[in-house]
Amino acid sequence: QCRLKHQIPERLKTIPEQDNPKFSEMVQYFFHQACIVCEDRLVDDLGKIRGSKDTLEERQRKVTAIFKQIEACDAMVEVAFPISRDNGEYEIIQGYRAQHSQHKLPTKGGLRYAMNVSADEVRALSAIMTFKCAAAAVPYGGAKSGIKIDPRKYSLRELEKITRMFALELIKKGFLGPGCDVPAPDMGTSGREMAWIVDTYSKTLGHRDLNAAATVTGKPINAGGIHGRESATGRGLFHAVEHWVNNECYMDFLEMKLGMKDKTYILQGYGNVGSHTHRYFHRAGAKCVGIMEIDGTIVDEKGIDPAKLEAYKLGPGKGSIMGFPDAKKFDGDVFGQPCDILIAAAKEKVISKENCGQIKAKIVVEGANGPVTPAAQKLLQERKVIIIPDILANSGGVTVSYFEWLKNLNHVSYGKLSFKYERDSNYHLLASVQESLEKALGKEIPIRPSLDFQKRIAGASEKDIVHSGL
Ligand code: GLU
Repeated sequence: QCRLKHQIPERLKTIPEQDNPKFSEMVQYFFHQACIVCEDRLVDDLGKIRGSKDTLEERQRKVTAIFKQIEACDAMVEVAFPISRDNGEYEIIQGYRAQHSQHKLPTKGGLRYAMNVSADEVRALSAIMTFKCAAAAVPYGGAKSGIKIDPRKYSLRELEKITRMFALELIKKGFLGPGCDVPAPDMGTSGREMAWIVDTYSKTLGHRDLNAAATVTGKPINAGGIHGRESATGRGLFHAVEHWVNNECYMDFLEMKLGMKDKTYILQGYGNVGSHTHRYFHRAGAKCVGIMEIDGTIVDEKGIDPAKLEAYKLGPGKGSIMGFPDAKKFDGDVFGQPCDILIAAAKEKVISKENCGQIKAKIVVEGANGPVTPAAQKLLQERKVIIIPDILANSGGVTVSYFEWLKNLNHVSYGKLSFKYERDSNYHLLASVQESLEKALGKEIPIRPSLDFQKRIAGASEKDIVHSGL
């Protein structure tokens, strides 16, 4: 029988040729690529449902309908509110929250503060969250919010005002609550903003909600947070890469030596994801030969020490990696420097058709959301470069957010009951790593998730047990 195959829609066909595609279209393109890969399996699976009498054609129609439903963004709110700045002037602040998929509630995803925030971008990022939650086997639909500001240009008082006003707008629109929509930190925000949000919720709609603490994750520990959440994205990224480099099959494919030890890596972005990733890679014996930040690049072929760099950046009057005495300033494009692993942990679309040709790394890791464009992906894959996708590589953050949310809903400290939840989720995370590996290589790989891996990624809870004194 002839099957109607899923196709990339006409309007997206040129995306893999474009050097700077629209971010939302690029995410849609990736989605349709995934549909093509899994269509046949879904059609077959529908036929295996007990009692199903659907013909092949009916099942195909259903799968097409499912794809259409997954692609659409379920709900979106766009708000504009005034704040008075410290100098007495008024400013209108624009913010967005997209709930891409309400198939599993609550919807979940970060809140970012950046100047390039737009409705379109937030919608696309919320779609990535849906796929990320599915890849990490955390039971959420995807969401994302953004406020169009450069947070460095606002005082602490102004940022608090903006965050609390935005939280109030979300509450008014029914877009915030432990059972409906749960934000977390993202670019330009941290535990501080999450504490303001949970406090605003608790003092308004949440004053009678005994689960109010679970309305946002990534909170500071004293506001109901969980140990290990801040470093979770970097830790997850490390474990994802570790899984690749400890696999003989892949290392043979890349003609590389097995293991993390002595692998060289370059980091683009030294924010939350980059800085923690740096520490985990360094501990495993890998060597950081370059770091690229918004205000400049530093390199050192002997390796950049994470503890020294962190101490330097946090030093009085610094706030930047530039001027670090144990590395050299570099003026060219660090993407072209030799290394084994390139970690793009800054922002979207940084690896494009134009610059991917100079990349020497054999493994490219998407630490940020959507850093590799479809055109770059195609060209890199032709050169046998492995790309570890964002929905897996940076899923450690939302995975530990899930533990934090459970902890808040359970009204307990970890260690009392939740070890099992963690073990189960981590097993799924690992199993999904395995599955994508197999897909990428087109053959089955003979290893199975190890207990050791589960124990290591569950590090957050072990620490929690120590801290809660149990
Ligand atoms: N902002 C993070 C992300 O993009 C974390 C989301 C969460 O924990 O909800 O994955």
